[in-house]
Amino acid sequence: AIQRFTEKNPKSLAQHRTASAVLPGGNTRTVLYHEPFPMALSGGEGCYVTSLDGVRYLDGLGEYTAGLFGHSDPVIRAAIDTALDGGLVLGGHTRPEAGLAALLCDRFPAMDLVRFTNSGTEANLLAVGLARTLTGRSKVMVTSGGYHGSMMLFAAPNPLNVPFPYVFMTYNDLDSAKATAAEAGDDLACILVEPMMGSGGCIAGDPDFLRGLRDLADRTGALLIFDEVMTSRLSPGGLQLTHGITPDLMTIGKYIGGGLTFGGFGGRGDLMRRFDPAAPDALLHAGTFNNNTLTMSAGLAAMSQVYTPDVIAAHNARGDRLRDRLNAICSDAGAAFQFTGIGSMMTAHPTAAPIRTYSDTLSADPRLRALFFFDMVDSGVWLARRGMINLSLPMGDAEHDRIAEAVESFVTLRAPLLT
Ligand code: PMP
Repeated sequence: AIQRFTEKNPKSLAQHRTASAVLPGGNTRTVLYHEPFPMALSGGEGCYVTSLDGVRYLDGLGEYTAGLFGHSDPVIRAAIDTALDGGLVLGGHTRPEAGLAALLCDRFPAMDLVRFTNSGTEANLLAVGLARTLTGRSKVMVTSGGYHGSMMLFAAPNPLNVPFPYVFMTYNDLDSAKATAAEAGDDLACILVEPMMGSGGCIAGDPDFLRGLRDLADRTGALLIFDEVMTSRLSPGGLQLTHGITPDLMTIGKYIGGGLTFGGFGGRGDLMRRFDPAAPDALLHAGTFNNNTLTMSAGLAAMSQVYTPDVIAAHNARGDRLRDRLNAICSDAGAAFQFTGIGSMMTAHPTAAPIRTYSDTLSADPRLRALFFFDMVDSGVWLARRGMINLSLPMGDAEHDRIAEAVESFVTLRAPLLT
């Protein structure tokens, strides 16, 4: 499979070698790297991307959830054009900035006030910093295997992590969270958690687990922070609305900028008010591009005109149906293979054992994960190397069929390995 990939992508290989002279490993974004070399793209349209070698792929990666709108949404494009006409880097406040903020505060139950950043990483760092400042406590509870940005990565030791004093819980294991909180005593500032682990393998949080974290935060005086950078797209008000659990703070990112650089954090008004520059003890939060006009305009158009509540519900219901269909294909073929996730996000796992926490994903054979990726790409479906698929809005039934057919041919061809 790897040999076929190499044969089909000579220009990507050449590009990788050229780039390697000036970028370490040809790369400025580690997640896009995989052996033997990553595929380079020349463009995209709707829900399709074209490789440098001229092959058109169905885009199942969906830019790790930021590509929800596909590559050429006309409404977003028009908003960007209008913003361009108004001039770049204005260095002042604009109406789209306040408009997007109002829309988000209306949509997410936890969000009374919001601040924008340039990435989800920054949003999480600021939210945790705020929680530590406001509580006067130091410890930050996170999930083993969790991911909250390039400087808060817990799937492997990461010397580049911002060195907050982390304490760890096991996802979907409330007892482990309680034990960790007990050890932290009255020094626990916050619990930072994704209501579905995204990068960790699309592992849905049990409602009881998430509710238990809410209670635990209340009992210990820690703040509960939901990282909804990925999951906010799964209902009109994110997974917090689905579960009826309101965190104290939340973080957002990815698709909300309409496909442009975006991040944000927000929450309870009494907490977020500390960022009011006129407040006596105001916290300083700067950032040259926090309110850049292209992102603010694209985001406002995307969220107000494209990803409206009825579209959100329909898109995720279609995702649920596709995932059920893929799982039926696997079980009909007798393959020890499954898709986890919620709505428009899913991850393939080469095992029949239940996936409830990050360590469950590690028991699956990594060579089968690689094989799935290369076989899918060979079938014309581009996806995350780890097996993640994120459905975008331009995908119609024909595109969902195409994913199903590619999965069916994989489980049929590789059946002897999937036991
Ligand atoms: N939180 C979660 C849950 C994420 O999935 C990501 C990105 N994959 C981030 C934070 C970081 O966002 P960014 O890449 O914009 O820094």
